[in-house]
Amino acid sequence: MKEGKLIIFSAPSGAGKTTIVQYLLTKIPDLEFSISATTRPPRGDEKEGKDYYFISKEEFLHKIAKKHFVEFEEVYSGTFYGTLREEIERIWANGKTVIFDIDVEGGLHLKRKYGEAALAIFVQPPSLQVLIERLTGRGTDSKEKLQERFAKAEKELNYAPQFDIILKNHDLQTACAEAELLVTNFLKN
Ligand code: 5GP
Repeated sequence: MKEGKLIIFSAPSGAGKTTIVQYLLTKIPDLEFSISATTRPPRGDEKEGKDYYFISKEEFLHKIAKKHFVEFEEVYSGTFYGTLREEIERIWANGKTVIFDIDVEGGLHLKRKYGEAALAIFVQPPSLQVLIERLTGRGTDSKEKLQERFAKAEKELNYAPQFDIILKNHDLQTACAEAELLVTNFLKN
C-alpha cells in the first residue's frame, strides 16, 4: 500500500482545533478526516461514522487485542479514543491526505511513527483561563467531566514545543487562514 501524508492537529480540548480542522476540510479538497473510534456516547448532533465510530468498551478492547489501532489513549478515565489502521489506509487508498483531530499524546505518537510524512500542529489557546471559559460555555459536559478536562488541558499545554508548529489561536479567523497556508505549503513538497 502506498503511504501518503498526514496532518495532525492536537491541542487541549476547547482550544479550537476541531473548528480549524473542519474549516480546512472545506478549503482543501486533498484532505480527508480520520474518524476515530471512541467509547463515549455522541454529543449534540454528532453522527456515527462522521464524527466518530461510537463503539462499546468491549469492542474497543477487542480491537486493541487484535492490534487494529495505530494509537489509542484512555483520554479521560474510562473513556477510550483511538485511530484505526484501516481508517488511515482507506484514506490513502482514496489518494488523499489524512487529517487528524486528536489529543496531544496521540498526536505526538503519530508524529513519532510517521516522521517526515506527518505535519504535527499544536493549537495554542490564548491562556488557560480562556480555555476554561470556552469549555464551560460549551455546556455539554457534567461538572466532573469539566474538571477532568481542565486538569488535562493544563498538563497538555506543556507539550507544545514537541510539535513541528505551534499555531496560536487568539483569533479564530486568523488561525484558520494561517493553518490553511501551513497545510497547503506542506502538501506542495
Ligand atoms: P471529545 O470528547 O471532545 O470529542 O475528544 C476528547 C479528546 O480526545 C480531544 O482532544 C480529541 O481530539 C481526542 N481524540 C479524538 N480522537 C482521538 C484518537 O483517535 N486518539 C486520541 N489519542 N485522541 C483522540
